[in-house]
Amino acid sequence: MRLSVVVPCYNEETCLPRLRAALLHVLPPLAEDFEVILVDDGSTDDTLGQLRAMSRSDSRFRYLSLSRNFGKEAAMLAGLKHAAGDLVAILDADLQHPPELLGDMVALIDKGYDQVVARRTRTGEARVRTAASRAYYRMMNRLVDVELTDGVGDFRLLTRRAVDALLSLEERNRFSKGLFSWIGFDTAVVDYENVARTDGESKWSMRSLINYGIDGILSFNHRPLRLAVYLGALCTAAAFGYALWLVIGALLHGTTAPGYVTIMCGIIGFGGMQLLLMGVLGEYLGRIYHETKQRPHFLVKETSHTTAPEAPCVDD
Ligand code: UDP
Ligand code: MG
Repeated sequence: MRLSVVVPCYNEETCLPRLRAALLHVLPPLAEDFEVILVDDGSTDDTLGQLRAMSRSDSRFRYLSLSRNFGKEAAMLAGLKHAAGDLVAILDADLQHPPELLGDMVALIDKGYDQVVARRTRTGEARVRTAASRAYYRMMNRLVDVELTDGVGDFRLLTRRAVDALLSLEERNRFSKGLFSWIGFDTAVVDYENVARTDGESKWSMRSLINYGIDGILSFNHRPLRLAVYLGALCTAAAFGYALWLVIGALLHGTTAPGYVTIMCGIIGFGGMQLLLMGVLGEYLGRIYHETKQRPHFLVKETSHTTAPEAPCVDD
């Protein structure tokens, strides 16, 4: 059995030495043949230099360097495409995904599961953030067609057929939490205690989290459009009722001039709602635009095998 470990790295120079030590401690007993695929996602610090040194001293550590920062989703995809293992694990470079857990995860694969996902507890996290994510997941699971679990991230172990299934999904907007769930297969969950990041810093700001949340809802289905249809139908019905009531009132009692408040509320309310729904339409249109351009998900600048940086290779 061959085990590949994919690690996306963006400005992780401070974490890499510990990651390497942890992996060298955990992996050899697990698989006689393993490879670690480190993906440098256009880092601006010495990450690439360290990856070069790591792969030079130990050929089991392979790396690829993307031509710029394409984001974690693209970096993971790049790693998955280059992984040759029968089993492929994905974990973060910052050791927030404890590699020691891989032992338990491999054991579950041996029991016949195709995906083993690690679910973190939320100990040590700000209470507001925990509550926000809980609420988000509750809403998400109502909105999207795939099942998403709170605390489950990208830390997982996949069999070859799960990886191939994932790679067969060609879409550009990759919301991997949804993709992992969409491919199905028997999935097992292992829990682990939340680990705080010790070196470097998280690349997630509150704003990027909110955008990620919106992406999640919109990338996975067209239910928001269906909601817009219902909302439109509801408003039209209400407007007809109200119009009828006004006309009958006018016929019975003649016109009465007041109505400023009603009109203003109507204009503001409907104006806002229309803008919002147009925004939803625009989001889908933007996604279609993005999708039709068929650009590659990432570009590779250099890998551990083609050390000639002057010959960039286009990879999709
Ligand atoms: N990462 C990446 N590209 C990016 C942002 C992050 O490859 O544009 C990597 C990062 O190096 C780390 C993992 O994704 O290995 C998770 O990032 P981070 O720790 O910032 O996220 P958090 O743990 O705070 O969710
Ligand atoms: Mg992290």
